[in-house]
Amino acid sequence: MLEFEERFRTEEACVEYLFHLRWPEGFQCPRCGHGKAWPMRRDLYRCVRCRFETSVTAGTIFQDTKKPLRLWFRAIWHLTSQKYGANALGLQRVLDLGCYQTAWTWLHKLRCAMVRPGRDRLSGTAQVDEAYIGGKKPGKRGRGAEGKALVVVIVEIKEGNIGRIRLKRVQDASGPSLEGAVKEGVGPGSTVHTDGWEGYGRLSELGYAHEVVRKEAAVGKNLLPKVNRVVALLKRWLLGTYQGGIHLSHLDYYLDEFTFRFNRRTSRSRGKLFYRLVEQAVAIDPVPGHNIRKGFANP
Ligand SMILES: [Zn+2]
Repeated sequence: MLEFEERFRTEEACVEYLFHLRWPEGFQCPRCGHGKAWPMRRDLYRCVRCRFETSVTAGTIFQDTKKPLRLWFRAIWHLTSQKYGANALGLQRVLDLGCYQTAWTWLHKLRCAMVRPGRDRLSGTAQVDEAYIGGKKPGKRGRGAEGKALVVVIVEIKEGNIGRIRLKRVQDASGPSLEGAVKEGVGPGSTVHTDGWEGYGRLSELGYAHEVVRKEAAVGKNLLPKVNRVVALLKRWLLGTYQGGIHLSHLDYYLDEFTFRFNRRTSRSRGKLFYRLVEQAVAIDPVPGHNIRKGFANP
């Protein structure tokens, strides 16, 4: 914490940090490609040759922010240094933000940055099953259950242990929905373990080595063991961090945050997690506030 405060004490330090993330090989003018620029006010740089002005935050989630980057960095630090995550009220308190809505919007923008653009798909062997999130009673397979969201859980198996995961909310447990989730999460040629549900029936036609490891198929219970473990952790996390108070229309964000944390659960250093999140915040496109309020994870 001290080290963090020391490092990002000034606005200039934050701008410099972003500068190196955006232009690791040195400045490059987006218009003429020239390699030299004059620093202007705040995070603006003017190309020495064509005089085009470009900002370090243009095209990132920090674009057009009226708040100091210092505050954003503290928000990211807070989010990545909490073992289980942060809620808006906690962030508002830590940053001393006047407005709850700001804290809430920031958290959602940062969650968008937790999905790495163009992230790679899982490979090798993966276990796939679906679970219901939200609501009290177990749902019926094949049709939507009220107050619940159906989530496809994909778990990479590494030497018998759980590797990385992918989570994808789907409309229903039909073939097209499940196939879409598998295609998005698992690379072709991989081995996919499922139960005997007919929705997975075409996976071998799609280029996967499909193995039915359990004949019976009942969604929401009797999950395949590795998936079951991940779902238990996910549910506990949702309850613990958000007191179960999440709205299902925003579930995608929470799934992204959980995936981000889970897949980096072994990175010992908090600093690394911080670095990753800032790096990804620079790499993704700006997230307009109105998209967040409508509950679209990907604008
Ligand atoms: Zn230029």
